[in-house]
Amino acid sequence: MHERSVAKNILREMEELGQEYPQGRIAAVEIEVGLMSGVDASLLASALEIEQDRMQPRIDFQIHTVSLLAHCGPCGKTSQIESFVFSCIHCGSQQIDITQGESVRILTITLDDPS
Ligand SMILES: [Zn+2]
Repeated sequence: MHERSVAKNILREMEELGQEYPQGRIAAVEIEVGLMSGVDASLLASALEIEQDRMQPRIDFQIHTVSLLAHCGPCGKTSQIESFVFSCIHCGSQQIDITQGESVRILTITLDDPS
């Protein structure tokens, strides 16, 4: 299961970050899952739950799915790619660069102040 290894990588990153900031505790993490990242958001959510099973305290993961966006070279506009049609919806050019939707990214990390 691919999502399982993605979940493991995310948790390992959080663990390393936790060592860098021992004064804070990671409370919440916001993750962006691209529609074309090959990762299923709900499978990733359950994989994170499973992998966190023995972790205390747990991190609250918020997962958002994002659509595929592309930037057009010739006209400079941004298109949302649908139905795998890889061309600019404004001018029809195929000289586009995918700017969002191909990867899994960590957007924000919320640290809790211990008190
Ligand atoms: Zn264009």
